[in-house]
Order: sequence, then C-alpha cells, then structure tokens
Amino acid sequence: MKKTSILGLILCALLIVISCTTTKNKTKTAITQTTKTPEKPNILFILCDDLGYSDVGFNGSKDIITPSLDALANNGTIFTSAYVAHPFCGPSRAALMTGRYPHKIGSQFNLPPNSGETIKKGISLKETFISKVLDEAGYNTGIIGKWHLGSNPEFHPNVRGFDDFYGFLGGGHNYFPEQYRKAYAQQKANGNKLIWDYLHPMEQNGKELHETAYVTDAFSREAVRFITDAGKTKDPFFLYLAYNAPHTPLEAKEEDLKLFAHIKDKKRRTYAAMVYAVDRGVKKITETLKETNQLENTLIIFMSDNGGKTTAGANNYPLKEGKGSVYEGGFRVPMFMHWPNIVPAGKKSDNPVEAIDFYPTLARLANAKIPAGKELDGKNIWDDFLSGKNTHADENIYVLRHRNGFSDVGVRKNNWKAVKAYQQKWKLFNIDVDISEENDISSANPAILKQMVKEAATWSNSHIQPYWWHDEKTGKDWKADGMPKFDVTFKVD
Ligand code: CA
Repeated sequence: MKKTSILGLILCALLIVISCTTTKNKTKTAITQTTKTPEKPNILFILCDDLGYSDVGFNGSKDIITPSLDALANNGTIFTSAYVAHPFCGPSRAALMTGRYPHKIGSQFNLPPNSGETIKKGISLKETFISKVLDEAGYNTGIIGKWHLGSNPEFHPNVRGFDDFYGFLGGGHNYFPEQYRKAYAQQKANGNKLIWDYLHPMEQNGKELHETAYVTDAFSREAVRFITDAGKTKDPFFLYLAYNAPHTPLEAKEEDLKLFAHIKDKKRRTYAAMVYAVDRGVKKITETLKETNQLENTLIIFMSDNGGKTTAGANNYPLKEGKGSVYEGGFRVPMFMHWPNIVPAGKKSDNPVEAIDFYPTLARLANAKIPAGKELDGKNIWDDFLSGKNTHADENIYVLRHRNGFSDVGVRKNNWKAVKAYQQKWKLFNIDVDISEENDISSANPAILKQMVKEAATWSNSHIQPYWWHDEKTGKDWKADGMPKFDVTFKVD
C-alpha cells in the first residue's frame, strides 16, 4: 500500500512537471510562431511572358526602368538562379500549374494556335492544378491574363480551380483593342472560320467582353479589382497574374515610349515601354494591397515563364542565348519573393529554385491537401529558403527541348552545367565561374559529364510521347523521325 501511495505521489509530481513544461512550451511556441511563417497568406504570383534575365532594374538593367518591381524586389529576396521547366511558354506554364516536368504529362510542345477549334486538347485532366488545391483549401482563386493550357470548356481555367478568370485562352494577344477588334471584325466579315487567337475578344469566366484598355493596363486594373474584392472576404486569395507582356507583338503606349526615347533600337525601345507598362500596373497593385491592409499578409512572387527573345528586344545578359535555348538564357529567369517580415528583405539567394517547386511550396503555405497519388517533380523549398539551405544541393535541374529530329538538353547540378545543343557533342561548364557558358571543360572532366548525362538519360525514361505538337507538320515529322531518339541524345562521344 505504502509503495502505491509513493508511486502515486511520484506520478502526481511528474504530471505537475509535465503540465508545467507543456504550458511553458506552449508559451514558447506561441512566441516563436509570431516570427514563423503564418498560415494561409494571400499569394500573388506575377508572371511575365518572355521577359529577359536582365530586363528589370533589380537584375541589372541599365536602360529599362522598373521602379515598382525594384522596390518589391529590394524589400524582398532576389533569386539569381530561378529556373523554369521549359524554355518556352506552354510547357513552362503547364509545369507551373501541375508541379511536373511537361515531358512527363505529354505537354512538351505548345498547343497550336486556335487549339480550341482545331485539336481540342489541353493539359491532361488527370493533373490537379495548384489552383484547385488552393481553392479547396478555402482560397479565393483568380487568374488574370494568358492561359495557354487548353481552350475548350473542359480545360477552361474555371474548371481547373480558378473561381475568376479574366483574359484570353490562347498563347498570346495583340495589345490595342481598337486595332485587334477591327482586324477581328474584318476576318469575321470575310467568313474566316479560324480567326487568329491574338485577335479574339477578352473574356471573363466564359463571357466575351468589350475591352477598351491597352491589354497590360486591363490586366493590372482587373488585378486591382480582384484584390479589392478579395479584401472584403475572410478568405485568403491566390491570384495568378499572367501578363502576356513583353511577348510579341511589340506594341507599346505612346506615354511609355516617351520615357525610352534614348533607346535607339526601335524593338528594344518598344519592348522597354512594354515592361514599364507592367511596372506601372504593379505600382497600383501594391498600393491596393496597402490600402486594403493586405500587403503584410501577402506573398508576392515575380518571375518570367522563359528567357527573353533576343530578336524581339530582350536582353538576357550575362546568360547565353534566350527563349527556346537550353543554355541558361533560355530557362533561367528573373525572380523575387516579397512578404514583409517573413521573406528576408534586401537579400539575394543564389540557391536554385525551380518553377515546379511552387506547387508543393504554395500548398504547404496554404496548409492545403495535395490529392493522394498526385505526382510532383519539385520540392517544397519554404523552410530551406528561410534557413538559407539549398533544397537542390547535389540534384539535377533539367531542361529539354525537342527540335526537328533531335533534342537539346541542359542539366545543372551544383556548379556544373552539362549541355547538348544543336546536335553538337555534349559540353560541360562550371557556371559558378563561367555563368555565360563560354569555356567547355568537358575534356578535363569526362567522368563528371558522363555521370550527369547518365542521370539525364535515366530521367528521360519517365517521359511520355507528346499529346500534341504546335503544328501538324511537326507532329508528322516527329513520327517519321522516330522521335524522341534518346539513344542518340544521351550518347557521350
Ligand atoms: Ca513565354
């Protein structure tokens, strides 16, 4: 009996100690949590189209001014090694929405123009988009701008998790309504059944609209509207603001062009004015976030969907080549994140981040449930980012682009970059010291190159045949050539 009461006393004492410790820990946790990442922030994802690596002030542009983007970037963290999953539009966007390499889901080519009327295809419905995941986690979800992931009703943004869509469904658009409306009407009057995507009227949730504003301004205006409305609800928002600027056609407003009169090259001048139009919009959007008391709880991510097109006014310096290339200029893009008191301010991060990382990262921030069985190729980078750790240390970052009868491939691992391009032999660069990929050091490091190519070949085993090609001829040639012919691609001479 005595033993039992002693045991009882000990148990009691233990319980008191445990409960004290728990209370203490609770207090501690509560204090720590205020400095930790708050749950369910608003997420504003701003994507530019074909924006060059150095075509924003925060990434070193000398001739294009982007004061509003720079202010956000400088009060946030600039990522110097942000990679998209493909060097051109459609596949890059597919990867962003699905968290998967486009080659694994059959979307390694752009959808053809007017895909809604011609091939009637879009990103596989087996893939749950990040918008759906966030929508189901209680977010107000919106997309403003360019879609390019399927134009038929079953692929429409509204059925892929976006409550609100304002923009266009194709791969690009003209910028001046008074011009594109006229051209559209003319083609319609001529009985043209397939009217160029770029001339179609803007739409909101399936309803055609009579837009009158310069397209970039229209998108900024709609973003302000969406953010203002979202601020009136209790729920957080996810806004995917997909500007088509500065993608061609090169069309800018006079008021913006005036600011760049010092740029002699007309293409570059127009391109600069188009980037500035985005910046003007971002200024209003930031002001709206402030006025509606949402800036403090909003994570802003800014990036481009692929490298800049150097023949259309872009500059990717110091990166080699641009849009469409597997050299760095094709898929390494300008990027920053901004979130007051959470994302470190005034910092630069050289650790690689991939566009396919955003799916798991945003889901984690939203405390959202990723569907069981959903395959993902990226990683949640959030905690590593805050602690300064490289999520992708010793891992390969891939880019692969099919051309007529062959494929170009880039593989980055740590400081190494292996490249196979234009049917030349594999090359190897040390991009820590040679960011412009000028000095091929493959002959001095054959084992490193061989291993990277071997790993890339293994990765390519997970690819499937494309579900479409950007035009009929490319599809026919693909079959006639017996593509993808990876045995040729992954052979080291
Ligand atoms: Ca693009």
